[in-house]
Amino acid sequence: MTKKFPAATIHEAYALGLRDFGENYVQEFERKHPEVAGLAGARYHLIGSLQSNKSNRAAEIFSAIETIDSLKLARRLAEQATGPLDVMVEVKLGGEETKTGALPEAVPEIVAVLREAKNLRLTGLMTMPPWSTDAELSRPYFRRLRELAERHGLAGLSMGMSNDFEAGIEEGATIVRIGTALFGPRPKA
Ligand SMILES: *Cc1c(COP(=O)(O)O)cnc(C)c1O
Repeated sequence: MTKKFPAATIHEAYALGLRDFGENYVQEFERKHPEVAGLAGARYHLIGSLQSNKSNRAAEIFSAIETIDSLKLARRLAEQATGPLDVMVEVKLGGEETKTGALPEAVPEIVAVLREAKNLRLTGLMTMPPWSTDAELSRPYFRRLRELAERHGLAGLSMGMSNDFEAGIEEGATIVRIGTALFGPRPKA
């Protein structure tokens, strides 16, 4: 998770062996992209919400988009993606408290569209529970995401951040999205 950090941070982490990097904003990564595009084997994941007017550009600069949260966005990407692009459906399991993600009821239709698209590879589901310092409060959300993924035959689970990644891993995460615990507090600018 290198959002708000400069390209130099990606280079440093790459030198230490990290290969998967998460970014939240298409515009921010667009600026850094020229400086990091040459890092062999590095993969850049979009983990922030994607507005449909930026989906085309996102499909070009990211290797994975973990935040497909509507049928509309799924259809758009299915049309636009030209290369192999990994995608995940972001699911909203926290009711009112969670701002982003598709409702669980909408998941089957989104999954179907993504599976049909020949340039997209649906790898799994992503979620972000209401933030808390108590990782145990995240656990039920992680468990529900795993059950939902199993129902759809999906192996990938992106769940767990600095505050709750241990619970995420215990519940079967295949991707944890860790920012602060690796890089320290994010720069303000
Ligand atoms: C910022 C962010 C993270 C990382 O948060 P930390 O608490 O710094 O580990 C993970 N996932 C998403 C979607 C984020 O926006």
